[in-house]
Amino acid sequence: MLKSKVRLLRSGELAAADNVNAFIDKIRKGDKSLHCFLDLNEGAVRDAEAVDAKLREGRAGRLAGLAFAVKSNINVRGLRATCASRTLEDYYASFDAYVISRIKSEDGIIIGMANMDEFACGVSGESSAFGPTANPAAPGFIPGGSSSGSAAAVAAGFCDVALGSDTGGSIRNPASHCGVVGIKPSYGRVSRFGLIDLSMSLDQIGPLCSDVFGAALALEVISGQSRYDGVSVDAAVPSYSGLQPSVSKLRVGLSPDFERLCTDGRIYRLVADFARMFSSSTGSGLADVSLGYVDLAVQAYYPLVYVEFFSGTRRFDGTKYGRRIEESCGEEVLRRILGGREISKAEYHGAYYRKALAAKGIIADDFRRAFREVDVIFAPTTPVLPHRLGARIADPKVLYAYDAFTIPANLSGVCAGVVNIGRIDGVPVGLQVFAPAFREDLLVAVLAECEALYGKR
Ligand code: GLN
Repeated sequence: MLKSKVRLLRSGELAAADNVNAFIDKIRKGDKSLHCFLDLNEGAVRDAEAVDAKLREGRAGRLAGLAFAVKSNINVRGLRATCASRTLEDYYASFDAYVISRIKSEDGIIIGMANMDEFACGVSGESSAFGPTANPAAPGFIPGGSSSGSAAAVAAGFCDVALGSDTGGSIRNPASHCGVVGIKPSYGRVSRFGLIDLSMSLDQIGPLCSDVFGAALALEVISGQSRYDGVSVDAAVPSYSGLQPSVSKLRVGLSPDFERLCTDGRIYRLVADFARMFSSSTGSGLADVSLGYVDLAVQAYYPLVYVEFFSGTRRFDGTKYGRRIEESCGEEVLRRILGGREISKAEYHGAYYRKALAAKGIIADDFRRAFREVDVIFAPTTPVLPHRLGARIADPKVLYAYDAFTIPANLSGVCAGVVNIGRIDGVPVGLQVFAPAFREDLLVAVLAECEALYGKR
């Protein structure tokens, strides 16, 4: 439980340096087979000792002594931000991303840089140029992606909290497969300054943790406006971790559209059964809501991502940040660059990009309408269970389909989180909860209630 760890650190019963050292030991022993990390922060213990001094003087911040794993597409000064790509293999960040300066200013410790799908393009953790990550919670299966190392590091007990990024599901999908908590904040809730972007109009940074409290604590620290990300919104940041989850009499939505699209019916049944349990224990109403356009999500998402990714990668031309991307990247990244270039051509503009934008708007309207009828929506995280590590799925469409239920939150800008509610065939399955944009307070309270309820069964 992260709450008790915070208390131990604060009271001095657990030294920050001991906390960090214990993780480093565990990583050294266990990460050879899991491959959650690409780099460890050699200065982590020194940083922790400095935090211990502050703790003794009673002037340490809210994250004092907690160890963070950071996805390798987020700049941490002095560490490599490789995006798990040969292209940026030798790129050392010269500055801290906004979220990192927030974590450091609250005395969190960066323990290392996590493995990921190359440039955050993927759902399995298998496309890292430095080798795949394994799933500690379901041996033999993929951990999910693209924040594969972040989720696996949390599940393996290699850190207290991890940061991931979520453009179409990359926090929630691996959180589900690894049995941990993951939150994709509303679009604009967290500044992306210092995130190496996949798709600027969709990306969000968010936390992964073994419990809701820890994810909420990290979220409240990294949220807020920065003047370097014009999209980040100047809205008050409630103390998400301090909220007393008193969830009752909510209107919970279930969507027959998700049921229809859920390839593995067992996943949907688990979610629907849990929703019924939630409803009776909290006195909440259950209602069907129509999200009739969610089946357009995957088709709308990829043209947008291809085009924005193509444009974003033009700076990796070899002059400043290492190698020319087209000459050094893997297959999926190249597919998106070439595809994005095609779609960007003037004659294709109206054919794909504008249509995708229109579909994005329709899906956002769908959610706005649904949230007039219900407070939150419960859904599966993925329509299928993860495949076996090394199964080598060649058809990109099969991989893209994993995100059919997570992409809608990115397209509509709402917030969404995942919490484990069971296992099927031995593999963890996460419930996905959607809440309206900037209602992370409600989202966190509902996730905490679900966590408690699952613990009580
Ligand atoms: N799997 C999706 C993709 O490949 C989402 C990735 C992400 O959220 N970073 O684009």
